Amino acid sequence: MKKKYSVKELKEFKENILEKIYEVNDQIETVRSTTNNSRNIFMEDKGEDFDEGTESSEVEKSFFLMSRESDYLVNLKKALQRIEDGSYGICEVYQEDPDKCQCLEKPLISKERLIEVPNATKGVLCKEKKNLNLI
Ligand SMILES: [Zn+2]
Repeated sequence: MKKKYSVKELKEFKENILEKIYEVNDQIETVRSTTNNSRNIFMEDKGEDFDEGTESSEVEKSFFLMSRESDYLVNLKKALQRIEDGSYGICEVYQEDPDKCQCLEKPLISKERLIEVPNATKGVLCKEKKNLNLI
């Protein structure tokens, strides 16, 4: 039984994570610049009569989006750390209690899932069961 991913595989995962980090950074940058622009346009159009309520809710929405994206960014960076310390791709449930882990490639989270969700800390089945409090 394979206990952890090979150096070569970890390198692949790392590249995938770095790519996602760039993507998310890009999205945050886009939201940030759109927020600034829309505020400027708004101010010019409406002059003194602008409705502060409308504007702030738009800004809030953008901030919400940004904070969600930054959470994702934090998790991706944690994933990078797990690659460095060698624990990346090992199911968290398995680490708590090997008997409870439902992963097919126990203790490893499947490769497909890690490419799809690089910040995953549990296998799909383990995550679902954990959410339902079954394990
Ligand atoms: Zn598992």
